[in-house]
Amino acid sequence: MEDTTLRIALAGNPNSGKTTMFNALTGQSEKVGNWAGVTVDKIEHSIKKSLCGTESILAVDLPGAYSMSPFTSEESVTSDYVKTQNPDVIINIVDATNLSRSLFFTTQLLELGIPVVIALNKSDLNDKKGNQIDAKRLSAQLGTTVIATSAASARGMKELVQAALSAVGTVQSAPYKQADIDLSDRDAVEAEDRRRFAYVNELVKTVEKRRVFTRVRSFDDKIDAVLTNKWLGIPIFAVVMFLVFQISQVWVGTPIADLLVGLLEIFQAWVGTLFEGASPLLSAILVDGVIGGVVAVVGFLPLVMVMYFLIALLEDCGYMARVAVVLDPIFKRVGLSGKSVIPFVITVGCAVPGIMASRTVRLERERRATAMLAPFMPCGAKIPVISLFAGAFFDNAGWVSTVMYLSGIVLIFLGALLVNLITGSRTRKSYFIIEIPEYKLPSLVEAFKSMCGRGKEYIIKATTIILLCNMAVQLMQTFTWSFAVAESAESSILATLARPFAYLLVPILGVLSWQMAAAAITGFIAKENVVGTLAVCFVGLENLIDTEELAMLEGSGTEVAGIMAISKAAALAYLMFNLYSPPCFAALGAMRAEMKSVKWFWGGVGLQLAVGYAVAYVVYTVGTLITGGDLNVRAALGGLAFIVAIAVFITVIILRTEKSIRDKRAAKNA
Ligand code: GDP
Repeated sequence: MEDTTLRIALAGNPNSGKTTMFNALTGQSEKVGNWAGVTVDKIEHSIKKSLCGTESILAVDLPGAYSMSPFTSEESVTSDYVKTQNPDVIINIVDATNLSRSLFFTTQLLELGIPVVIALNKSDLNDKKGNQIDAKRLSAQLGTTVIATSAASARGMKELVQAALSAVGTVQSAPYKQADIDLSDRDAVEAEDRRRFAYVNELVKTVEKRRVFTRVRSFDDKIDAVLTNKWLGIPIFAVVMFLVFQISQVWVGTPIADLLVGLLEIFQAWVGTLFEGASPLLSAILVDGVIGGVVAVVGFLPLVMVMYFLIALLEDCGYMARVAVVLDPIFKRVGLSGKSVIPFVITVGCAVPGIMASRTVRLERERRATAMLAPFMPCGAKIPVISLFAGAFFDNAGWVSTVMYLSGIVLIFLGALLVNLITGSRTRKSYFIIEIPEYKLPSLVEAFKSMCGRGKEYIIKATTIILLCNMAVQLMQTFTWSFAVAESAESSILATLARPFAYLLVPILGVLSWQMAAAAITGFIAKENVVGTLAVCFVGLENLIDTEELAMLEGSGTEVAGIMAISKAAALAYLMFNLYSPPCFAALGAMRAEMKSVKWFWGGVGLQLAVGYAVAYVVYTVGTLITGGDLNVRAALGGLAFIVAIAVFITVIILRTEKSIRDKRAAKNA
């Protein structure tokens, strides 16, 4: 049968109501968020029969974007998408309450050569605000059909679909055409943006009548005056994040986690009874090692889920978009776009979508820097690692998490400055446009759904990747190279493999611990593995001899930490090494894809490794000196030499960049 399916693509700025519209058109229930995120996955579904009389018309969700200039690489993502999805017509969702920002994007869509129909969405809100938009005039100016809609109450959907269907096959001419400019010239790109803005602003003046501004400030304005205040904005953000960690990791998460660990230990004991007759070695490997490791990871699930729940609430009520605004002026100073804030905040959940979100950053250098720096924000998988060390060494103190996230932010700034120096880029103003959604009561149901979705992913990861890793780690630690059972774990495959790396960690741990080296290495596969591997290693073969001790330790990650025998300074340093050194392989894959440059990718990995190591070294050394602990002078000097070597290497690159800039300038002047 011939494929006669028509495809209608939905495109619009984040928060214009794209997802709500998609759901209204298809009857699906995709997640709706009240903040500027990015649709990364392709979403496609047939439009309801009641709207178009057939079931063979597909709605395709295009990635949400603010801008799609045909001369930045971000556009190539969107235009590739348009080409591969091959839509017959685009419904451009325009946020009627934010006309000029939305139409900037519209003028770009109109240059793609695919028929466009405009949905003037959130008209209900606009009516309520007393603003008027002359849809007829707008339609005449742009040469497209304009339909007033309210996706939230499914108003105007039928007219919209009809208009889209009748636009199929028509030819529209773009009202604004991009000038012929050099795409790698930042000044030219920005000048072109300004011209487009000017065009759009003129257009808006002729079609929009906004209610005259009254002296009475709206409720939103009053809240914004405080939350996005120049001085209060950042302290408030810090307090909010502290509360998120305190609630998720101390007040609510931990009691639930304790309960869950209790249940999981019963499960583990039950599995143990199944292996009663089997060889003690097999049961030790399987029950204590493999399952124990997974249990240790799953035990942290409540902390992660509570955190996701709270973040979802913050996103939904409209606060997260304000955070981007509050942090924007600071990010500009270090040469990052205000849009970089979005990838950084998304990374708090998971670095993979976070890094992918960096594609909305327009300029290539900024985009690559954003993708490289995002992993400094600790992701959800790192929470178990943070909690393990906070619990074992710092009495579960909430400050540990807060410090880890704040340090992540500081490292992003410092990293950005370093990238500027290395690439020889001067900081300049760049446009920052972001949707500021209305405040609203967050939906508990949506937050719950978001939490369950992430929780599911976490469990899947724990029962696949982490289970396999634990199994491999357990086997490597049980056997020697000649596949005989190791007399002690010290002579196992794992110990001999991990020991060379363990030497590298002595300057940040103060002791030689192949177990901790092994955990850091498996952490690159998935960060939760750090916890899993420590659990496997420390409740391993040695305890087979001392069954009493084994019974005491099994399954509980927190107790495992207690036998690590390192100082508090070392615990903090090791934790920071795991958080700020390169992320897991999945995130590295995303980084590679977004950077599209081998040089940048390896440069980024090198930077992450250097930063992670240097931070850990400083924390351990200074921490040990302050607390009056014993500092292993030889290791400290060794570590210092290593860091100095990296610093010299980076300085050489920076000097070379500066020289090449000077040479270029000289050549230009000559
Ligand atoms: P997306 O980011 O473009 O996918 O936008 P969403 O569909 O997630 O919607 C963003 C916010 O706008 C949500 O809080 C929606 O409930 C709200 N919204 C969407 N369409 C309308 C509408 O027509 N009227 C009103 N009042 N709110 C809407």
